[in-house]
Amino acid sequence: MTKKNRKNISTMAVQAGIGQDPAYHDVIPPLHLTSTFEIQGIEKKGPYEYSRTRNPTRDTLARALADLEGGANACVTSSGMAAITLMLHLLNKDDLLIAPYDCYGRAYRLMQALSDKGHFHLQFVDMYSKKGLDKAFALTPRMVFVETPSNPVMRTADIADICKRAKKYKSIVAVDNTFLSPVLQQPLALGADLVIHSNTKFINGHSDVVGGALIAKTKELWTELDFWSNSLGVIGGPFDCYQTLRGLRTLELRVKRAQESAAAIAKMLAAHPRVAKVYYPGLKSDPFHAVAKKQQNGFGAMLSFELKGGLAAARRFVEALEIFSLAQSLGGTESLINHPATMTHVAMGPEARKAAGVTDGLLRLSVGIEHADDLILDLENALKKVK
Ligand SMILES: *Cc1c(COP(=O)(O)O)cnc(C)c1O
Repeated sequence: MTKKNRKNISTMAVQAGIGQDPAYHDVIPPLHLTSTFEIQGIEKKGPYEYSRTRNPTRDTLARALADLEGGANACVTSSGMAAITLMLHLLNKDDLLIAPYDCYGRAYRLMQALSDKGHFHLQFVDMYSKKGLDKAFALTPRMVFVETPSNPVMRTADIADICKRAKKYKSIVAVDNTFLSPVLQQPLALGADLVIHSNTKFINGHSDVVGGALIAKTKELWTELDFWSNSLGVIGGPFDCYQTLRGLRTLELRVKRAQESAAAIAKMLAAHPRVAKVYYPGLKSDPFHAVAKKQQNGFGAMLSFELKGGLAAARRFVEALEIFSLAQSLGGTESLINHPATMTHVAMGPEARKAAGVTDGLLRLSVGIEHADDLILDLENALKKVK
């Protein structure tokens, strides 16, 4: 999917801001912790004045993320939720936003709460079938929020099809690309207008920063978002940006290594007698295999599976693991396991969980970059303890 006039992802990530320091010619872009900048005289404006508005370290990360996603520019925010908050400020009170019925829980709640206050109209829809999309677009949305693959059962929405439909209605399409990163999916090239990242996940990749970004395809859209980012103060701190830029340099290596292990794990689980179901579009038997193969450069490092034996089995399994840590979040170098029914999706209630496919035996893995053999052995040993 890489355009001919663009460098490869790994080169862009490694080279972001390298050798551009005008003061001391640092090879690595320096960390600018200052909140304010000295102005060289009245009516003599420099490039930087105040760090809420603009900061060199944040700018370097924004440029890097915009380049990786093929956008005009980016706003770097204090979290993924802050990026979604920023995005929602493009809407007027009469505009309709459509979003997937199974989108990220906190995004779901934020949209619902702001819509309840009259900030915009909102409809949760099915984006995984042509019929669902026909119905959704008949509502003439101003903005379409897409999250693919979905969490935790890895439903995959067809980004190009959604963008083609959106063009007819002049709707803005925003894609949350957190699960795959620009290494594996580039929504702007598929026709989207905005890309959202929780930098907390694969972008930083070391589970030591909470951050986010909103990348705009056009300068016009970015200018509007930049106004809101500065006005609301929805911005990433310089130290977080510095740390994230450091993590970003190895993005491709990390994602590719983790995805290789995830594929091997999915295969092992799919053949295991104590596993009822595996959700990983990389498996040929997965209902979303074809669409994922069409629009992605790989199937990623996230997968879910359902143990036979429900909650009791899940509890025994998790307790027996030695490498995978039971924790929220994803996309770090270390492998994590999540029990959605009692952790990330507990607020949904049993009925909504059932509709979303979140059973008591469902477990989600964020595969890290440890050796695949060790990860598989850890899972196999734990499976032996599940009766
Ligand atoms: C984590 C996550 C978010 C929210 O990001 P934070 O950095 O935690 O605010 C949004 N979307 C997806 C898909 C996520 O996984």
